Amino acid sequence: MYTIPYLPLQALNGRQAEALTATATEVVRSGWYLRGERTAAFEAAFARYTRRAHCVGTANGMDALTLLLMALKAREGWADGDEVIVPALTFVATAEAVERAGLTPVFADIDATFVMSPAEAARRISTRTRALLPVHLYGAAADMPALLALAQEHGLAVVEDAAQAHGLQSDAEAHGIAAAYSFYPGKNLGALGDGGAVCTDDADLAQRIRCMANYGAEQKYRHVCSGLNSRLDEIQAAFLSVKLPLLDADNARRRQIAARYAAGIRSPHVSLPYGGRTDHSVFHIYPLCTPHREALRAHLATQGIETLIHYPLALHQQPLYARHHAERYPEAERVAATEVSLPLHPLLTDQEADHIIESVNSFQP
Ligand SMILES: *Cc1c(COP(=O)(O)O)cnc(C)c1O
Repeated sequence: MYTIPYLPLQALNGRQAEALTATATEVVRSGWYLRGERTAAFEAAFARYTRRAHCVGTANGMDALTLLLMALKAREGWADGDEVIVPALTFVATAEAVERAGLTPVFADIDATFVMSPAEAARRISTRTRALLPVHLYGAAADMPALLALAQEHGLAVVEDAAQAHGLQSDAEAHGIAAAYSFYPGKNLGALGDGGAVCTDDADLAQRIRCMANYGAEQKYRHVCSGLNSRLDEIQAAFLSVKLPLLDADNARRRQIAARYAAGIRSPHVSLPYGGRTDHSVFHIYPLCTPHREALRAHLATQGIETLIHYPLALHQQPLYARHHAERYPEAERVAATEVSLPLHPLLTDQEADHIIESVNSFQP
């Protein structure tokens, strides 16, 4: 129906159809499907890529965050219900992982670049706060230097949700203690199913996560804590090893398209993200904001352009978080009410990008 789909996964994976199919065949024939050499090889490759000493594969991104928080909680002796500050606008898994680790998510408003505002996070710190959990939303880095300084001042851990930001870390020197990744198929590095990972330089933390992800087993049939069953499959790890070499070029192409959008979009009805800057994000998502969202989406649909919204509700507006309904996070609410995600993926052509630009520019509310 759309001539420009939001994300053509079939075409994106089709670029490597032969290698992916050959890899799948190898795994089928190997007779070894979990905790084997393909998982170890991908973990080593992704640790190298993220420039962290350790990478632990998990079943998905939410488990990566959950296990990371569970391991920190156990090691640091945090109590049930201790608080972790998360941005008020993110995919809900960020906050649900905090709850699943037996901790309490506390929301902080975002800033004009859609990520956790250090000043708002500071206002939300209490005697029970144990960690800050910034999200590199849409592929753009949270203000890590300011958040790390804030955390140091208050004795807090910093844990990164990098589910939308594969490849960003190679530019950023300022890191929290660990970062959680998702390999959901639509992410910048996606499996052909679910997958996730934690990357860290902290050997003890990596070891604890590995143990907790495997029923709390320190060695076979010797269980030292209660954990989860959360592992990256051999077949997904093998697919990811085939796909990882394309990631940098894919991210570079995403930035190019973002630069084309920033240079070409000229409409009084929309605002460009980051004031048109494109060097600090891997553009998992290209977020335009407009007070005329439904009309713009309908207009783009008539031009054959599929768009999405990330996200239509801020966390405190979710039915799940009804107890927070009375709270106000003005910037998160503004973005939730006005954001439109334009198609932006490595196979989008200049011609398609120009059609999208012209269609945004011809929009009249
Ligand atoms: C995708 C995503 C997650 C969850 O990852 P899954 O692999 O889907 O569990 C967490 N946080 C953010 C910001 C995400 O975009």
